Amino acid sequence: MGKMYRCRYLAHGLYIHYDCFRHCHLSIHSPSERNNNYIIPYKGPKDKVDWNKVFEIKNTLVKNMRDGDIPAFCKGCHWIEEFDENSDEQFLSDFDNYLDMLWIGHSNECNANCIYCFSFQEIAEHRTVKGYDIFPLFKEILEKKIYNLEKAPQAHVSFAMGEPTILKSFDDIINIFTKYGNKYFALYTNGIKFSKMTAKILERKDVEIKVVISLDAGSGEIFKKVKKVDKFKDVCSNIKKYALAANKANPVDLGVKYIIIPNVNDTKEEIDKWFDLCVKQLEVKYLIADIEEKWFVRQCGEVPEYVKDLLRYIRQRCIDENIAFEFYDRALVLNL
Ligand code: SF4
Repeated sequence: MGKMYRCRYLAHGLYIHYDCFRHCHLSIHSPSERNNNYIIPYKGPKDKVDWNKVFEIKNTLVKNMRDGDIPAFCKGCHWIEEFDENSDEQFLSDFDNYLDMLWIGHSNECNANCIYCFSFQEIAEHRTVKGYDIFPLFKEILEKKIYNLEKAPQAHVSFAMGEPTILKSFDDIINIFTKYGNKYFALYTNGIKFSKMTAKILERKDVEIKVVISLDAGSGEIFKKVKKVDKFKDVCSNIKKYALAANKANPVDLGVKYIIIPNVNDTKEEIDKWFDLCVKQLEVKYLIADIEEKWFVRQCGEVPEYVKDLLRYIRQRCIDENIAFEFYDRALVLNL
């Protein structure tokens, strides 16, 4: 029986970039192909979006992928699903013209300067891209049901570029989507600025916000090397406030990450400090481990045993102390 392939994000995802729409914000597995992960140009409200064209492009790629012609920017991505051409589930809704996954990436303003920042290269070169007014776009996709909460009640909004909590419109974005019934958000934040709105949503059981903070250190000294700002104490204090909020509803809605960066934070000693701080002092119940992307790409995915051992060590400590745990992208593909 023949195999077919699909990606739910290729079908229904939209990454709102600062100058264009893309299918997703990933392509971490094929950085040289990132610029081909492209739908149409978009630079703000003055650009009228031709949604027919957006879905025509999506449908063509979805069809090609089903037939085994995987777009180059998708090759190697762990989100590709395989299914049998004769199986009962044919995922025909992949051809329906609606969105159910949004990544908000129209600005890369940030209050840290992490050495691993994976803003796309062109943005990194300009350093700061101030976001345009994104509300007309949100109103349009919600009113016209292009972002369709009826067809996809699990639809998801993710903040995927820069530091979202410093966006002036951060609270308003959460408000407009919750007003239309959106229940799922994801927030990748450095934790330097405390967001009352985030804590408020963390406490709710009817709306979910998955908050991920990359601490990457157990000491102020290593934190400063990674983030290039002296804010370790602020971040720890904010993690604790978010943990207290999450622990009232769903403790694993707050995850704290350790990105292993060779020659910077790659010691058991630092990992132990991070683990003990998160679990014993900050009351975090969910930890995540990953490997720094740029280093990983330079290594062509060849990861030395000692780094794999550190990743296994983090996982084992979580298992031993009954803490929820996950490997993220680079660490995930190692199949440890
Ligand atoms: S397969 Fe991966 S890169 Fe391609 S659209 Fe899906 S998530 Fe993005």
